[in-house]
Amino acid sequence: MNEAPSPRAAEIAAALTEVGDRLGRACLAAGRNPDDVQLLPVTKFFPASDVAILYGLGCREFGESREQEAASKVAEFGALTADVRWHMIGSVQRNKARSIAQWAYAIHSVDSPRLVDALAKAATVALAEGGREQSLRVLLQVSLDGDPLRGGVPIDELPELADRAESAAGLELSGLMAVPPLGSDPERAFAELQAVHANLLRSHPAATQLSAGMTGDLEVAVRYGSTCVRVGTALLGSRPIASN
Ligand SMILES: *Cc1c(COP(=O)(O)O)cnc(C)c1O
Repeated sequence: MNEAPSPRAAEIAAALTEVGDRLGRACLAAGRNPDDVQLLPVTKFFPASDVAILYGLGCREFGESREQEAASKVAEFGALTADVRWHMIGSVQRNKARSIAQWAYAIHSVDSPRLVDALAKAATVALAEGGREQSLRVLLQVSLDGDPLRGGVPIDELPELADRAESAAGLELSGLMAVPPLGSDPERAFAELQAVHANLLRSHPAATQLSAGMTGDLEVAVRYGSTCVRVGTALLGSRPIASN
């Protein structure tokens, strides 16, 4: 069967091509291999039908930032296929660790020892009970402005948190994530993040992932070593206000 794509499918296909081109140009300009930078579509606020469209276009990994919405979308979409990896990219409460360990391949927003411990426990149980097959990949979210309300671990507490995540059962320390502070210069923010990452790699050489860059600043992030850009708006359109 060769049905014509729906208007929504055509719209998303065009956007995916455009973002892919944009990322390709950013890699070229930065002298980087495009294979080294993952495009992670962020599907929060958009229905599982949009995920299905992206899947049909070849996407196999998706980012979600709200636990409940993600869990139900994963359940809805999970029936279609099992070869998808879901990434939790938003801030989480410890009491969501059990659920996250059931559906997330990776979590980009780990920023406290207590969250590390809760996720380790949850992932260990999920592994033992067959709820997951691999360790939960952990990226530590770094606070670049030291404002605890915006999430992220302060840079001076990062080494200790990295050691804790590295040695935790059920978890695999994969790298770092950051969101530039509101109103900040992304150039400076990502430069700092890259330096922090380089430092981390000395003690944790396997923590190679750097999750940085979104719709508005992916070019800058690629210039400063991002290995994963998390893109929502440019692919699926704008979300309701106050969605972050
Ligand atoms: C929503 C979200 C994104 C996607 O942002 P866009 O500007 O829509 O591309 C990326 N990262 C995190 C942590 C998010 O919550």
